[in-house]
Amino acid sequence: METGLKGKRALVCAASKGLGRACAMGLAMEGVEVTITARTAAALEATAEEIRRATGAKVTAVAGDITTEAGRAAALAACPEPDILVNNAGGPPPGDFRDWDRDAWIKAVDANMLTPIFLIKATVDGMIARKFGRIVNITSASVKSPIPHLGMSNGARAGLTGFVAGLARQVARHNVTINGLLPGPFLTDRLKGTNAAAAAKSGRTVEEEIMARAKDSPAGRVGDPAEFGAACVFLCATSSGFIVGQNLVLDGGAFNSTMG
Ligand code: NAP
Repeated sequence: METGLKGKRALVCAASKGLGRACAMGLAMEGVEVTITARTAAALEATAEEIRRATGAKVTAVAGDITTEAGRAAALAACPEPDILVNNAGGPPPGDFRDWDRDAWIKAVDANMLTPIFLIKATVDGMIARKFGRIVNITSASVKSPIPHLGMSNGARAGLTGFVAGLARQVARHNVTINGLLPGPFLTDRLKGTNAAAAAKSGRTVEEEIMARAKDSPAGRVGDPAEFGAACVFLCATSSGFIVGQNLVLDGGAFNSTMG
């Protein structure tokens, strides 16, 4: 597939590891100049170098917490006019909602709802003026099918999804699209973290725990982050301008429905 993305600029948030990294790698393979962020500078720079070596693309690494104003300002200073924005941040911790106070909720809403909204606010008008923009929000399959112990994730991400459902339809006529990518289980550090408690309970290793759960899904496995990166590239392609306000679930068929 010809993506038409060569020479475009992308800001990919939270991208030293996991799904963000896979999106940055996928876009760089298409000749996109990528700016990547994460809090841990050394790991981020190592990933930037890995992407440069693998793709030959220009990669800029900006260390900082994307959920803070300072972190967003630094990312935008390095990439003020992105053609592509991939919103991502760490997910909220699992637990029982009885244990979450106001501060915990504010942190989750800040990271998984307000941060993407403020990054969209900072970049969407430039995209409109240039008549091209692709915004991809990495959320979670929990937006469609809630995961009981990830209540803050279910709530904050659903808030973002509701907001962009409206905005996507206001900007589509300018060839600016906003869509969600909803990961089910992908083999990343995050998945290992969210399965640690279950593994400790069952006496299995974290890997065994993940594989045991994955066996029951239609695909019989967890996702490879590279598959997620490829879906991101597809949504960003110049030929994807008619895909507007959609939420693409990548979960190996685990969400059981006849359509949608
Ligand atoms: P991951 O492997 O843990 O990677 C997270 C990446 O984000 C790292 O590069 C991390 O680097 C960076 N990061 C985290 N918080 C950040 C912040 N505040 N500012 C800047 N960078 C930050 O996680 P993942 O599996 O790729 O998950 C990505 C998102 O998808 C998360 O929101 C997660 O909840 C969601 N998700 C994942 C799965 C899955 O199965 N993997 C399923 C559903 C939803 P630093 O720590 O150095 O900042």
